[in-house]
Amino acid sequence: MKLTVLGGAGAWPPAGRACSGYLVEHAGFRLLLDPGYATLPRLLELLPADAIDAVLISHGHPDHVADLNPLLRSRALRDDPAAPLPTYALPGALSAVLALDRPGLLDRAYELHEFEAGDAFRIGPFEVQSRLLPHFLPNAGLRLTATGRSLTYTGDAGPTEDLVKLADGTDLLLAEASHVEHVPDDAARWLNSALEVGRQALHAHAGRLVLTHLFPGTDPSAARSAAARSYAERIDVAEPGLVVEIA
Ligand SMILES: [Zn+2]
Repeated sequence: MKLTVLGGAGAWPPAGRACSGYLVEHAGFRLLLDPGYATLPRLLELLPADAIDAVLISHGHPDHVADLNPLLRSRALRDDPAAPLPTYALPGALSAVLALDRPGLLDRAYELHEFEAGDAFRIGPFEVQSRLLPHFLPNAGLRLTATGRSLTYTGDAGPTEDLVKLADGTDLLLAEASHVEHVPDDAARWLNSALEVGRQALHAHAGRLVLTHLFPGTDPSAARSAAARSYAERIDVAEPGLVVEIA
């Protein structure tokens, strides 16, 4: 399984950067995880739009879904439209982004598969386990497994033992760490810090940790150091172009 980071910025895309967006490939299948703001141009540097086989979305915030609209436009608005794109999301999570265009324009561009957090299902070669993790709106933590290797992605999630359970023994934990050490009180239940994510990676016995969704302006080395206070394995910060082979 191969992970390619398209963007890892939280909240909004700073100059030249993109928000949450990850390409996960295995056995020739290309799964796009969270097409957040500004991820489509990054993706198109790597692949044509019709090379994507499916999209999987953690939750409906625009820094995780906004570029679904230009992705669908790029597949639909041409003489030979691409096949409908299988798109997996929690109920209602895509209502806003799918309403951006005039009714009908993109109807044949996607095939919506709604799932409930807690469901297990298959997308191409990936077994997907999902789990509701705490956020401002419903958010699915996602564990992808193929040929015995796994990647676990938090979406955006406040501290919870449920993540430790979902990520138990995972090869790679890709975890939202909006803040370095302290999450402001009004968001403390719904967002995470690199310090706390390090603890969760330790308790889950994750093989490797990638911190993502850092708020614009956050020092990546400070985030890495905070996570390393409890987690001793390899830690990276999601930067555009980071590629991780999970083998
Ligand atoms: Zn969010």
